[in-house]
Amino acid sequence: MKCLVIGGGAAGLMAGCALARGGAEVVILERQARVGRKLLATGNGRCNFTNTAAGPEYYAGSRREISAVLRQYPARRVLEIFEEMGVPGVVDAEGRAYPGSNQASSVLDALRLTLAEAGGREETGFDVVSIEKKKSEFLLTSADGRREKSRKVLLAAGSPAAPQLGGTAAGAELLKKFGHRAEDFRPILTPLTTETEPIRGLKGLRVRCQAMLLEGETVVCRESGEALFSENGVSGICVMQLSRHLRGLKQPRLELNFVPAYVQSALFERARRLEMRRLEDFLNGMLPKKLGICLMRRIGLSDLNRTAGSLSRREMSALWNAMSRFSLKITGTCGFDHAQAASGGLDLADFSAETLESRKVPGLYAAGEVLNVDGDCGGFNLQWAWASALTAAEAMLRENDGILGR
Ligand SMILES: Cc1cc2nc3c(=O)[nH]c(=O)nc-3n(C[C@H](O)[C@H](O)[C@H](O)COP(=O)(O)OP(=O)(O)OC[C@H]3O[C@@H](n4cnc5c(N)ncnc54)[C@H](O)[C@@H]3O)c2cc1C
Repeated sequence: MKCLVIGGGAAGLMAGCALARGGAEVVILERQARVGRKLLATGNGRCNFTNTAAGPEYYAGSRREISAVLRQYPARRVLEIFEEMGVPGVVDAEGRAYPGSNQASSVLDALRLTLAEAGGREETGFDVVSIEKKKSEFLLTSADGRREKSRKVLLAAGSPAAPQLGGTAAGAELLKKFGHRAEDFRPILTPLTTETEPIRGLKGLRVRCQAMLLEGETVVCRESGEALFSENGVSGICVMQLSRHLRGLKQPRLELNFVPAYVQSALFERARRLEMRRLEDFLNGMLPKKLGICLMRRIGLSDLNRTAGSLSRREMSALWNAMSRFSLKITGTCGFDHAQAASGGLDLADFSAETLESRKVPGLYAAGEVLNVDGDCGGFNLQWAWASALTAAEAMLRENDGILGR
């Protein structure tokens, strides 16, 4: 049985391996010159390839289908499959798994080697621009006029996140003509742009904090971790996570608490203990020096040669507020170019939850980010790519006539 896979990313490669190992004749059609480019960039080149906590609560999208897929291929199973391919996973305290080698390239190598060992083939530079179905056979045509035929096709064309690594929305578009519904893609897990005046001089600074997304006084969500300041906003995993919840918010704000482990009285006590310290040095040890100075300036303290003991109660309260409720107007996000993932994509309701076969076009399957599922940072998006790819591949091998019983 021949199977065509559109897209040689995480999902396409994993599906290709499973199909080839299951005895299918597999061709992976990849529009770029190389497969797995995005995979190489994951986890800062280390590839956080799954998370042992992965359950539907870490994802946005249709709960029923996501649960069904993750039940079939939980993180534990994905870890075993990679171990079989020669990549043992090392799991950290938060459940994030990395390859033993700590290199994303070894994950890509393992997938490509497994595919080749099982007789699967990669066809690069093959940009699928049309899918036609003639009787029970699909005809796929590339931008340069090449053609491929088969009775089973898996669409694993990803999302437009990170276009510099090949991200595109074109894959989802291919299925619209078959009546598939799709939600527009939006960048997520991307840095936020904010008003810039309050963060002037902080570029490059990393600070542990609690980050909150607010609309008015309502807390939309909160995350803890490291924030990283840039010229025009804030990134860092905890802030990028918040970008998943920005949609539809009016005048959203980012609030950073740099001192979640302290109470206000600790600052008053510190001022008593260190009363002779100049303001310039007063917060040193508690916060990075640059940030301390920025906060003093923000509350209008311009003479930093003053001593901590000279701060009035009102100034101390203002300082505490600046440290624990550092508020920034959010102006937008850094878009797809800096996004690790996208929300939106093909509506899961148009696919069987058990097989990921299209309910509209029998014999056509989809997996990975092209589907309207997105997960938290921490290995959840790749877990979805593997689990959905394996679910679809298993069904493609099993169901010679498709779910609708033709
Ligand atoms: C910088 C960065 C870091 C990340 N880090 C992590 C991480 O550590 N952990 C994690 O879980 N997730 C991470 N992600 C997210 C993760 O990489 C994606 O969720 C995952 O790659 C999605 O897999 P996919 O196979 O669906 O899509 P992709 O991996 O994007 O693959 C899709 C492939 O399809 C090809 N294609 C598209 N259209 C066509 C067409 N018409 N014809 C032929 N080929 C086509 C594309 O060229 C591409 O190669 C990161 C993402 C980025 C950008």
